[in-house]
Amino acid sequence: MKIGIIGAGQLGRMLALAGYPLGLKFLFLDTSDQSPGGQIGDIVIGALDDRDGIARVAGDCDVVTVDVENVPADALAAVADRTTLWPPVRALETAQDRLSEKTLFGELGIPTPAFRVVDDVGSLRSAAAELGLPAVLKTRRLGYDGRGQVMLSEGDDLAKAHERLGGLPMILEEKVPFDFEVSLIGARTADGRTAYYPLSHNTHHDGILRVSRAPYEDDGLEAQARNHVGRILEAFRYVGVLTVEFFVAGGRLLANEIAPRVHNSGHWTIEGAVTSQFENHVRAIAGLPLGDTSVTGHSAMVNFLGEMPARDAVLAIDRAHYHDYGKAPRPMRKLGHGTVVCPTAAERDDRLARLLATMEP
Ligand code: AMP
Repeated sequence: MKIGIIGAGQLGRMLALAGYPLGLKFLFLDTSDQSPGGQIGDIVIGALDDRDGIARVAGDCDVVTVDVENVPADALAAVADRTTLWPPVRALETAQDRLSEKTLFGELGIPTPAFRVVDDVGSLRSAAAELGLPAVLKTRRLGYDGRGQVMLSEGDDLAKAHERLGGLPMILEEKVPFDFEVSLIGARTADGRTAYYPLSHNTHHDGILRVSRAPYEDDGLEAQARNHVGRILEAFRYVGVLTVEFFVAGGRLLANEIAPRVHNSGHWTIEGAVTSQFENHVRAIAGLPLGDTSVTGHSAMVNFLGEMPARDAVLAIDRAHYHDYGKAPRPMRKLGHGTVVCPTAAERDDRLARLLATMEP
């Protein structure tokens, strides 16, 4: 069986690395054979919205999946008669638009931060008056890792902020005074079987994930999160791995975002779970049984941003693993990650501190 992956970033690369031992073949679509996936597998060269490129991958593969969620849904829908597409195009469409995403959360009874639709400066002014400031202005489309959003405070020039985000369709969201952030990753097969990883506790800085720790042990929160993710998986008749990011405020979950794919906050599962998120996505879309999502210890994952730490320094830490995506350095770019998996949370936190120290200049 051959799996096509639209996008050959680090997620695609880790999907293929998880799928090769299962005897699966992979074909990527991306702009360079030096992309993380292109370095390890066959690739069709083309932009992610290149219809000919998508058609070539679809024509040559039994199943097609994505490494990024912003692949134009209509370009994928155009090849639906030639191959099997997982995740379902509707899941991608919904996650590509913050308003559709929020609407779905609402329909499924999943709490979110309060928000208003912003179409122009006038509606931004009324939204700001209704929600109060500070609040977060986000473009409806193409926002990720803190891009496409600005924090608005009392006294800010709203027209300027609107212009800074390109005057595109937006939403204004209340600024949630959250205690911390978590995510939950679920997987579903075509015959409706599901599996869930435990909660990851995530630390962001400037909108970018820095550290994930798992399992975050809180039975009440985990039950809430599983319930929410389960409803989303069913609503889409989803196949593959899907992630939901939440804010935790006063013991309650507020859904922030759906990622219809494997997720950065699940990289720890490569060494920290019996079956990784990457293998489970591949298993689900290939029609294979899901693997055990139990943890093998207490894990922490650190993103290597902008610069890779010295490999020998990381590997000198007991129970540390080093992942280099083979990308050219650029400020704040996700170049790799490190993971530690330990028998206790205290040991994990000690190794995490040592891992973080390897990244200090
Ligand atoms: P997003 O691109 O929506 O995932 O936002 C990236 C990060 O910005 C989140 O993980 C939060 O740390 C922060 N953020 C986004 N929306 C809000 C909000 N409504 N209130 C407070 N912080 C937010």
